[in-house]
Amino acid sequence: MNLTELTIKQAHEGLKNKEFTSVDLTKAYLDKIKKVDGELNAYLTVTEKLALEQAIRADERIALSKAEGQDFPMLCGIPCAIKDAIMVDGEKCTAASKILENYVAPYDATVIKKLKEQGVVILGKTNLDEFAMGGSGENSAYGPTKNPHDKTRVAGGSSSGSAACVAANEACFSLGSDTGGSIRLPSSFCGTVGLKPTYGAVSRYGLIPFGSSLDQIGPITKNVDDAETVFNAICGKDKMDATSTDYKFQVSLAGQASSKLQGLRIGVPKEYFVKGIDPEVEKIVRSTIKKAEEAGAKIVEISLPNTEFALACYYIIAPCEASANLARLDGVRYGLSVDGKDLLDVYLKSKGHGFGAEVKRRIMIGTYALSSGYYDAYYKKAQEIRQLVKQDFAKAFEKVDLIFCPVSPVPAIKIGERTDDPLSMYLMDIYTVSVNLAGLPGLSLPVGKTKEGLPVGLQIIGNHFQENKILAVASQLE
Ligand code: GLN
Repeated sequence: MNLTELTIKQAHEGLKNKEFTSVDLTKAYLDKIKKVDGELNAYLTVTEKLALEQAIRADERIALSKAEGQDFPMLCGIPCAIKDAIMVDGEKCTAASKILENYVAPYDATVIKKLKEQGVVILGKTNLDEFAMGGSGENSAYGPTKNPHDKTRVAGGSSSGSAACVAANEACFSLGSDTGGSIRLPSSFCGTVGLKPTYGAVSRYGLIPFGSSLDQIGPITKNVDDAETVFNAICGKDKMDATSTDYKFQVSLAGQASSKLQGLRIGVPKEYFVKGIDPEVEKIVRSTIKKAEEAGAKIVEISLPNTEFALACYYIIAPCEASANLARLDGVRYGLSVDGKDLLDVYLKSKGHGFGAEVKRRIMIGTYALSSGYYDAYYKKAQEIRQLVKQDFAKAFEKVDLIFCPVSPVPAIKIGERTDDPLSMYLMDIYTVSVNLAGLPGLSLPVGKTKEGLPVGLQIIGNHFQENKILAVASQLE
């Protein structure tokens, strides 16, 4: 048995039946990381000491619950990886930026607290685009993550390491964050399952913020069942995040998915299948839609007419929020501080050395769009368009239960292919940003591979708090 290939459920069963211990599992993953990560660059920090301590404690807990004839939590003893924008108490948290190179998290994010309560094992912190700004993973100050399916290609971003490490069996599951596609896009490129939850389903406390009205933390896993398990463990109200809601997720729907497609109304947005989409991606996604139809679903063509404005709208709102959020990194309070002749000089030098080119670009766009005189023309306008994008989905969900579309117009691109052209990089987000603008849940499900062997993801979008429906249908398609 290859321990690093097991799903969460399989690993849980193995721990239960004493086939192996959590220490065995953890060591197998640490070995795998040592073997492959030098090349893949999915991890920024490997927390070996923490992982082994947690594994020993998990084994004790498992032994105790068995002695008492009780069950232990599904995630107890399971090794996972965490995007390096989510804080794990006492460990480095860099957001893949030079400005936070030596920053150590002073507390656990709420999602980490919840995972630790279940007895999880944390293997390390994963690579990302700096401050989660990017779609390819190449904006990391610590080098790009390579795609395990083809090492000349990107893993997708921004949660590049979180998707690559699960695809390469360097972790049983991981957490990523998604502001405009950052869980779904790398999942599509790496062939993992990635769930971006409804805005407010999961606490953002302890996540280094990018666009606070868009950010959500979610799971990246080997299959749909595991996504459900992890989502169930991390969701719910948190008094530390006022936007979190008291959401009681219904578990185990995925397991009983026998006829979830029968009579299901699936919307296919006509605006998502236009010029620019890779023919192989289109073919794979359409053939999955066809399979759903054959299994009893009703396919309905829908229109999301404001799709053409969504990208522009996102690329105003996200940078505006980012520029406000990143203002705290001033070279005085957190991270890198470069000496200067006066305070302004300290600010300029610290930010100048600390931030990479894309982050600077976003700060400049955001600051400009929020400045007086331009605010109404850009930020206010973008907020109005955001309402229209939301209304498009609200109308669509009067007619359909779920929406099926691609995650990305292209499979994983070559490393370096778009780095000189930010606009073409932004275009990869065309199918994902609307979901964040509308606060909806979306899942990337691997549904096929191109002739070159590159994974392609189907995006399943649901109405607010319909994760159970998405997961049940994804499970059946899987
Ligand atoms: N690619 C998008 C961007 O660069 C989305 C990133 C994300 O979801 N964090 O902003």
